[in-house]
Amino acid sequence: MSATDSTEKPSSKPMHFIQNIISQDLASGLHQKIATRFPPEPNGYLHIGHAKSICLNFGMAEEFGGACNLRFDDTNPEKENEEFVNSIMEDVKWLGFNWNGKVKYTSDYFDQLFDWAIHLIKNGKAFVCNLSADEMQRYRGNFNEPGKNSPYRDRSVEENLAVFEKMRAGEFEEGTCSLRAKIDMASPNINLRDPILYRIKKAHHHQTGDKWCIYPSYDFAHGQSDAIEGITHSICTLEFEDHKPLYNWFIENLPVPAIPRQYEFARLNINYAVTSKRKLKQLVDENYVDGWNDPRMPTISGMRRRGFTPASLRNFCERIGVTRSDSVVDVGMLEFCVRDDLDKNAPRAMCVLQPLKLTLTNYPADKTEVLTLHNHPSREDLGDREIIFSNTLFIEQEDFREEANKKYKRLVLGKRVRLRGAYVIEAESVVKDASGNIIEVLAKVIEGTLGKDPEDGVKPKGVIHWVSANHNLNCEVRLYDRLFNDEAPDAGGKNFLDAMNPNNLQILENCKAEPSLAKAIVGQGFQFERQGYFCLDSKYSTQEKLVFNRTISLKDSFAKTEEQE
Ligand code: ATP
Ligand code: MG
Repeated sequence: MSATDSTEKPSSKPMHFIQNIISQDLASGLHQKIATRFPPEPNGYLHIGHAKSICLNFGMAEEFGGACNLRFDDTNPEKENEEFVNSIMEDVKWLGFNWNGKVKYTSDYFDQLFDWAIHLIKNGKAFVCNLSADEMQRYRGNFNEPGKNSPYRDRSVEENLAVFEKMRAGEFEEGTCSLRAKIDMASPNINLRDPILYRIKKAHHHQTGDKWCIYPSYDFAHGQSDAIEGITHSICTLEFEDHKPLYNWFIENLPVPAIPRQYEFARLNINYAVTSKRKLKQLVDENYVDGWNDPRMPTISGMRRRGFTPASLRNFCERIGVTRSDSVVDVGMLEFCVRDDLDKNAPRAMCVLQPLKLTLTNYPADKTEVLTLHNHPSREDLGDREIIFSNTLFIEQEDFREEANKKYKRLVLGKRVRLRGAYVIEAESVVKDASGNIIEVLAKVIEGTLGKDPEDGVKPKGVIHWVSANHNLNCEVRLYDRLFNDEAPDAGGKNFLDAMNPNNLQILENCKAEPSLAKAIVGQGFQFERQGYFCLDSKYSTQEKLVFNRTISLKDSFAKTEEQE
């Protein structure tokens, strides 16, 4: 089975409401072909919530034989930059999607949008307003009270055209005036109370340079960009539901080339995480994490660096479904999808995280054997690898005890255990340092147990992993835990920084990996036997010093503690 197979939808699965809408629109002939778009603002890196939107928009286009555009919603030049643009393209590609044609930018349409603003002015549907932001706020009214008309609302068309041209020519300071639609200050929908179409921003733009000093609002730009691109289904999150009448007002009042329709779905919220770009940016800017792609971040780049696979994220987005009711998804579901994919696809390897020396007293010091191990218990296609066995090994400190009860199925003094892919051994004695710490275990090999049970019938209860002390790679392993201890770190006005988990990263610097891991490449996940899933860290790993990230443990830690008792 290939990695992508696990994301395939069983044909029996019921369709979600967006699939229903699209299939009806195709069946009725409203559209011959659908077009969707993913419209990120390049003011940060994408996170798991965006992955849901990407899978939905690109997924619908794929499923119904349409096309999906990638369009940067770049109307706020001060907060945006090229680094964010590039990271977003990389993330979309990595998730496995291809956008239709060239990358699009809302700024590609600034000339057209400007002409349409003029069109509204000429039709008496827009005016230049000189109220300050505070005044405008007061005039707007609120949920219970209607707004008041701006004193500038009745400017003549000629005056509006002249003042708007001066706005564009840079003759006014920021904040002194704006272009507003003339709709209805008494509308129960505040979005229709003469919303802003253009603001003055004397900012350099990452795409248009210094060409413009006025920039369209999201509301004015979005639907019109959809229309220009021939988007049929403009899918967005529920907070835009109240903007829909405005979206439609622009489409009805402008000579647009096509009629897009907006549909809203519930955003993805996940527990033990924050998914606000502003908060993620704060974590980065204030150095709580090591950049946007820190493996603890819920960003797509962070999850990639951590070792999550594209298939696991797509599968997760498929499982959570698409609805119109807000909910919080348990991060355990995401972890399940990652484990599931890596379990099926990741080759196995051995790595001792906290080494303890083990000497085999009856195995010749000058002897080595090359053992062949399967890379995966059920995937023959993943092949075999060779591992050197010798008389001095490293095992995990926690895999040995002088005494233990029956539940402890590892090595105990006087008892047996199997070394993975090698012999059964029996612990005979220990060497301790001056402070009483065990620094070495002496054991004997039970002869004839390579691939066979002991002839005396005393079977070992467990299997532990190991590496040869003289044939291994010294490496660093980074164990990540949740970034936050609180399952809703930013709920109810809480400061999410108070909920940071102080133990969210443990660095083990003296780990011993089997030599085959020298061939590991960034992006390839491994199961370190009995430890979890790991991958090379794209930032810190070098030829001289391998650094592995733990993507996820084998089971959740609750189950693991029980097993150890
Ligand atoms: P901002 O507040 O900076 O606008 P945003 O999260 O809305 O943040 P955008 O770049 O505007 O970021 O988002 C691009 C697209 O992704 C939008 O269509 C948005 O609705 C969708 N999106 C954002 N967050 C989520 C989420 N948590 N779940 C599902 N879709 C999301
Ligand atoms: Mg947004």
